[in-house]
Amino acid sequence: MNKVYLDYAATAPCDPEVLKAMTPYFFDKFGNASSIHSFGQDAKKAVEDSRQTLAEFLGARADEIVFTSGGTESNNFAIIGSALARKAKGDHIITSVIEHHAVTEPCKFLEKQGFKVTYVKVDKYGRVSAEDIKKEITDKTILISLMHANNEIGTIQPVSEVGRLARERGICFHTDAVQTTGHIPVNVDNLSVDLLSLSAHKFYGPKGVGALYVRKGTRLETFLHGGDQENGRRASTHNTPGIVGLAYAIELCRKNMKPEAEFQMALRDRLIKELPPLIPEVYLNGHPTERLPNNANFSIKYIEGESILLSLDMLGIAASTGSACTSSSLEPSHVLLAIGLTHELAHGSLRISLGRWTKKEDIDYLLEVLPGIAKKLRAMSPLYEGK
Ligand SMILES: *Cc1c(COP(=O)(O)O)cnc(C)c1O
Repeated sequence: MNKVYLDYAATAPCDPEVLKAMTPYFFDKFGNASSIHSFGQDAKKAVEDSRQTLAEFLGARADEIVFTSGGTESNNFAIIGSALARKAKGDHIITSVIEHHAVTEPCKFLEKQGFKVTYVKVDKYGRVSAEDIKKEITDKTILISLMHANNEIGTIQPVSEVGRLARERGICFHTDAVQTTGHIPVNVDNLSVDLLSLSAHKFYGPKGVGALYVRKGTRLETFLHGGDQENGRRASTHNTPGIVGLAYAIELCRKNMKPEAEFQMALRDRLIKELPPLIPEVYLNGHPTERLPNNANFSIKYIEGESILLSLDMLGIAASTGSACTSSSLEPSHVLLAIGLTHELAHGSLRISLGRWTKKEDIDYLLEVLPGIAKKLRAMSPLYEGK
């Protein structure tokens, strides 16, 4: 059967070139980067070269990069670490209602510890307004966290505008850039961020490795206590193969990002244009233009997202509804509810996310089979009766 992967926002396959670059660090160059001998020094050099590569990509300095185990750890470290470091100054955090769970859960954890969190609303396209954030700032505000682009509906947030606002008020500013890094330009100065999270498996690197950018001078309480790796900011033996893979993957993205994004954007726009005329009552979720080049998210009225996914899977097509992290729960996505969808429409969502190996034929195939699936599922749907 023809297998078509359209779920790159959940994870991307590792690029074979990346794996090739990583392989020596499992074998002859397996050393612990903290060891004095030559094995250790080889590993240390690889880690430091990788740090330099990532720093250049982000417009940062090498000593502002902390390698982590991925996006979730980077977000937890950034949010909990910066809140704890500023406890004496204030107890108020501002974030948005459409963040990834790896941001909202650490915020909820902090609420249990006595911090106060304001979750700013979004418009119908899923965009936060900088004005709304400004209104919530008080003398006690110590941190603002706003994602660069949303993982479900692809909407890109006005991060640089909010960043300038945070800087004027001397408030620490974090962005979850896991969906954007490697896909659209991410520059820490243009975005005016103090903290930025990224994860290798979302840009064709290995799973289980990521980084947190920490602007020089930003106070951050240590999260993982132990050895003095990463200048004492994050203990644990360096994941040398993973770090090398992350850097190699970002280097490939740097070289190919523009043409890749343009290709994916053309396929995405074709879907956005051609799907609605093929299926009545299909709606695009997210912003019409300010969106990730590889994301299309639709609500297909009268049917459940899960049923669409199962039908697509039987035909070899992998897509998503809501976010992968919540797909085992029956709650509709908090993001789709936040943009004002009814429970019914939120349950009928389908996220198509494209990537490096998506072909025109994959989109042709999806456009060919989806109308039939929708028709069949609607015929069985009690919600559709009499329509
Ligand atoms: C995937 C994702 C994460 C989690 O990253 P992991 O490396 O899987 O822990 C966090 N935020 C966003 C926006 C994501 O898409």
